[in-house]
Amino acid sequence: MSTPLVEMDGDEMTRIIWKMIKDILITPYVDLKTEYYDLGLKHRDETNDQVTIDAANATKRLGVAVKCATITPNAARVKEYNLKEMWKSPNGTIRAILDGTVFRAPILVKGIEPYIPTWKKPITIARHAYGDVYKNTEMQVPAGCKAELVVTDEQGNETRKLVHEFTTPGVLQGLHNLDNSISSFARSCFNYALDTKQDIWFATKDTISKQYDHRFKDIFQEIFDAEYQEKFAQAGIEYFYTLIDDVVARVIRSEGGYIWACKNYDGDVMSDMVATAFGSLGMMTSVLVSPDGTYEYEAAHGTVTRHYYKYLNGEKTSTNSIATLFAWTGALRKRGELDGITELSVFADKLEQAAIQTIEEGVMTGDLERLSTLPNKRSVDTETFLNEINSRLVALL
Ligand code: NAP
Ligand code: MG
Repeated sequence: MSTPLVEMDGDEMTRIIWKMIKDILITPYVDLKTEYYDLGLKHRDETNDQVTIDAANATKRLGVAVKCATITPNAARVKEYNLKEMWKSPNGTIRAILDGTVFRAPILVKGIEPYIPTWKKPITIARHAYGDVYKNTEMQVPAGCKAELVVTDEQGNETRKLVHEFTTPGVLQGLHNLDNSISSFARSCFNYALDTKQDIWFATKDTISKQYDHRFKDIFQEIFDAEYQEKFAQAGIEYFYTLIDDVVARVIRSEGGYIWACKNYDGDVMSDMVATAFGSLGMMTSVLVSPDGTYEYEAAHGTVTRHYYKYLNGEKTSTNSIATLFAWTGALRKRGELDGITELSVFADKLEQAAIQTIEEGVMTGDLERLSTLPNKRSVDTETFLNEINSRLVALL
């Protein structure tokens, strides 16, 4: 390697897997260079979360990052870790700094049949990574209050709109998004569609949200008409807009093989639905692509807390490391492409091939073993699974 990867370590079971992947499958083969940031909750607390900001800025500087799953603290975590504050979601912080779009796609393997029988190809979810409920301002409102939206321009002129007259107690939240961010979201989606030669579907609730969601729809259409229409025609792919309710129905009836562009919250929720319906959260990859061409690879799942507590008790776990492994291979392959190091990209391809071969030969973790239709399947523990991949990798190399 010539340029280091930004390495963001994380929490709980995925932190354990992180080290195993490096020790068993990467450092024996790659002259690995990383700039290391410890995003484990303890260290985030010690640095007042500065480490998260530093890691995001390093990604802007170096171009490619690989991130382990991290705890987003809630009240229970504040107590468990004795935190100074309920720190924000690291992914939220990183996404806000890098802007860009998160693309999530399942890894398909023989023997794991999607719950939706018509799904034959991956469905890639493109999740807008800025704003909306992830950058909200919210309040509890006592009875007898009037809530208004107030926008003040540079001259101090106010525009007001009534939200609600609260005669009984309630709740309130303010959301925003930015034309620039929505435009980069649209361009990232259209570029990714061209790169991967897949149709792109986009949906919002513009019939109800006539200003906010409608703005998303208009920006997508303007950019498509001005910049992408011809390229799409040449590539034989399509851009298609519909209502979020309609798209949900179409997705279920489809055979897959397209990109589904979602606003931030829709993407968060729908990617969990799609991942589960394809088989296991442990098989869902995720990459944040920013408009200036930086990439942050991660698994879509969390820190697998329940398995971690078993691990701490000295029990064997069978945690699926595939999505975390593919975050590493995605990052190594991209570094190889950007730096012109073919061997690095080829290594990433072979490591993925070895991992898929392992599962298709019947050796898998418990989550997959429960789903697999292979007659010769067997479930192995977390570390054995990685060693099984390694023995196939050695043969491929
Ligand atoms: P999770 O860690 O994804 O786990 C939910 C459940 O899904 C697990 O208990 C497990 O089911 C199954 N699962 C997920 N990944 C798996 C894998 N690799 N192998 C096998 N089974 C897997 O989500 P969570 O329990 O909601 O969240 C736990 C922590 O992760 C939270 O603190 C949350 O803040 C954090 N989180 C982080 C990210 C991120 O950094 N990107 C994303 C989501 C959540 P069984 O227990 O039934 O085996
Ligand atoms: Mg989610």
